[in-house]
Amino acid sequence: MKEFGQLLESLLAEKSSRIGQLEISASAGGFVVCHRDDVGRDDVTPREIEDVFEIAKFDNSGNYRPLKTAPNLRHGWKIFANNSAELQQAVNAIYPGRLAVLHAFESGKLVTTSLRETLSRQSGMYRVAARISDQQLDDLVGNFCRSDGGCLRTILWKRDDKGTLPSTQLPSEKFDPAHDQTGRNEKCIPLLCQEACNLLVAACREKVKEGAAPSAP
Ligand code: SF4
Repeated sequence: MKEFGQLLESLLAEKSSRIGQLEISASAGGFVVCHRDDVGRDDVTPREIEDVFEIAKFDNSGNYRPLKTAPNLRHGWKIFANNSAELQQAVNAIYPGRLAVLHAFESGKLVTTSLRETLSRQSGMYRVAARISDQQLDDLVGNFCRSDGGCLRTILWKRDDKGTLPSTQLPSEKFDPAHDQTGRNEKCIPLLCQEACNLLVAACREKVKEGAAPSAP
């Protein structure tokens, strides 16, 4: 666990104080974490570190956020983290698993899985998802994973074992960890996607089911 905190601190010192929609600033021997859009606002509500899961759960309108890397993190709060362990706790709650994936990436040990392989591993009601066509995948991923309104992760996986791009409808920046997926063109720590999430797999299943012939009465 300690090495994640060290990684984060070194990234903050060397690269940036932003990850996804979060702004992290050093303050009074610790760190202040808030929404990037809220920097400079003096009307945000101070919250406790224990509140961070609840902050990540709902958007500005109180709607549940099934995808934690969707670009709809709620505004209007700030959290003081006393040390790098608490900072890690806050970032992990808002972006689960992303620090571990980043650490593996920075160490050259990250393993990615193609979308076709992820789909072929599904069982039960999700097994049918593997029947999705390449054209359907191109359209679906282009819409579902787009940074503008979909997901802020940088895609590292390929569509298949031939190295096909996940979607021709996504800009090349979607696959570039150096690019700020929020569109603000600021230096930031990337949120990496090493394999398709459950939500995309479920969307593939739905797409296949939409095209399936209705069963006989
Ligand atoms: S597959 Fe990755 S990039 Fe696409 S929506 Fe899921 S987490 Fe985001």
